[in-house]
Amino acid sequence: MIEIPLRQSWLNTVVRCPEQGRQERYELVATRNTSDMLRGNLVHAAIEFCGNSMLHDGHIPDLADLMEHMDDCTPALVSEVAEWRHDFEKVIDAARINLEGWYNDYLPTLDTPTGVEEDFRVTLDERDGVRLVLHGTADWKQPNLLADWKNPSREYTPWEHRRWNLQASVYCYAFGISDFRLVALVGGAVQEIKIERTDADHEALKDLCWSVAELIQSDLKVWPMHWDGWHCSPKWCPVWQAGECRGKHLGQSPW
Ligand code: SF4
Repeated sequence: MIEIPLRQSWLNTVVRCPEQGRQERYELVATRNTSDMLRGNLVHAAIEFCGNSMLHDGHIPDLADLMEHMDDCTPALVSEVAEWRHDFEKVIDAARINLEGWYNDYLPTLDTPTGVEEDFRVTLDERDGVRLVLHGTADWKQPNLLADWKNPSREYTPWEHRRWNLQASVYCYAFGISDFRLVALVGGAVQEIKIERTDADHEALKDLCWSVAELIQSDLKVWPMHWDGWHCSPKWCPVWQAGECRGKHLGQSPW
C-alpha cells in the first residue's frame, strides 16, 4: 500500500496554485516567516495556554496571565521572522487587542475544550493500493464543535468561506464533527463564521484529494501555474521570491 500524506495547509496551497504546491512539497522553496504570521502566532500561543489551563487544570486564567504568557513567547517567535511588514510595536499592539477581544467576547461562548492544538492523522480513502491520509492540527475542539483562530488584516466574506473553505471540510472529516467555526480577530473585533460540513462535502473532498494524488504520482516536471489571484505575487509566493516561475521573468518589483 502506498500512503500519500496530505497536510491541510498544503492542500490550500496546491488548490490555489499547483506549481507552488509542488515546489513547497519537494522543499525546492521555503515559505518566509513574516510579521503578519507573528501576529497570529502570538495570539495562538496565548489561546493555547488558556485552553490547556481549562482542559488540564479546570480553570480559566486571567487576561493578565495570558498577556504575560504572550510576552514570554515573544522573543522566540520574533526570532523566526524573516520579513517585517509592520513595526514590531504595531504587531505586538495588534496581537494584544485581538487577544483581549477573543477573551472578552468569544471565550464566554465556549465550553471547556476536549482538545487544544490537537494533531490529527486520518485515512481519507483507499483505492488501487493507494491510501490518502489527511493530517494537520486543530486549534480548538469541543465534543460537537471545532474552532480555528485567524488574525487577518480585514474581515472575511462569510458566504465565500461557507462555499469554498477547504480547512472546514478537512477538519470536520478528521474529527467526525459537522460544526466548524472560523473565528477572525480583526482590530480587536471578533467575526465568527459558522460553517457546516456534511457527508456530501466529505465525498467532494475525496474527489479533490484524488485529483491532487494524480499529480503527486505523475512524472510531471512542472504542475499547472495559476496566476489568477492575490497569491501570485512576490509578496506572497515563495517560488516567485526565489526568482523562479514568474519571478524569473518579472523580477521582485514587477508592478
Ligand atoms: S509565481 Fe504564481 S504561478 Fe508561479 S508558482 Fe507562484 S503563484 Fe504559482
